[in-house]
Amino acid sequence: LRRRAAASVQRLTRSVADFPQPGVQFADLTPVFADATGLREVIDALAAAAHGRADLVAGIDARGFLLGSGVALAAGTGVLAVRKQGKLPPPVLSQTYQLEYGKAGLEVPADAIALEGRRVLVVDDVLATGGTVCATVDLLTRAGAEVIGVAVVMELEGLGGRDRLTVPLTSLVAV
Ligand code: AMP
Repeated sequence: LRRRAAASVQRLTRSVADFPQPGVQFADLTPVFADATGLREVIDALAAAAHGRADLVAGIDARGFLLGSGVALAAGTGVLAVRKQGKLPPPVLSQTYQLEYGKAGLEVPADAIALEGRRVLVVDDVLATGGTVCATVDLLTRAGAEVIGVAVVMELEGLGGRDRLTVPLTSLVAV
C-alpha cells in the first residue's frame, strides 16, 4: 500500500526551487492530489497509519484539509479541521508557535466538539521543521485528546522534524 503510494508521490510531485523564499525547495503535491489514482493511494496509505485505533482525524490548515476528510472516510472516523488563527468562531483553544520570522497560531473549537479522551490521527502534506505538527499535537493534547500518531505524505529529512515529535510519525516519502 505504502510503496505504491510512495511511487505515485515521487512521480507526480513538482519540486520548485526558491519558493516561497530563496533557498527553499518547495514540494508541490498539487499534481498528486489531482490524480485519481495518486489521491486514492495516498489517502489509503495515510489511513493505514491509524491502525484502526483512531476515532478522529485532524487535518492541518490548509493542504491537510484535502487529505483529512478522505483519510477520515477511509479510517471510518470523523474529521477535524485545525485552523489558522482567526478563522473559527469563539470559543477557541489556540496554540502559538515560532516561525522562522514571527509567530503563527493554530486553533480548534473549545467546546463545539468533545476532544477529551479522543484518539486522534493528525495528517498534513509535508513535514519540514515540525513546528506546525508539534503545535497541533500540543493543542490537541491540551484539549484532552490522545494523539495516536502523525501521518504526512512527505517528510523533508535533515530539518529535524521527526526528532521534535513525541508521537509516532508515518511518512510515505522521505526526501
Ligand atoms: P514545518 O512547520 O516547518 O514542519 O512546516 C510544515 C508546513 O509548511 C506544512 O504545512 C507544509 O505544507 C509547509 N511546508 C514547509 N516547507 C515546505 C516545503 N519545502 N515544501 C512544501 N511545503 C512546505
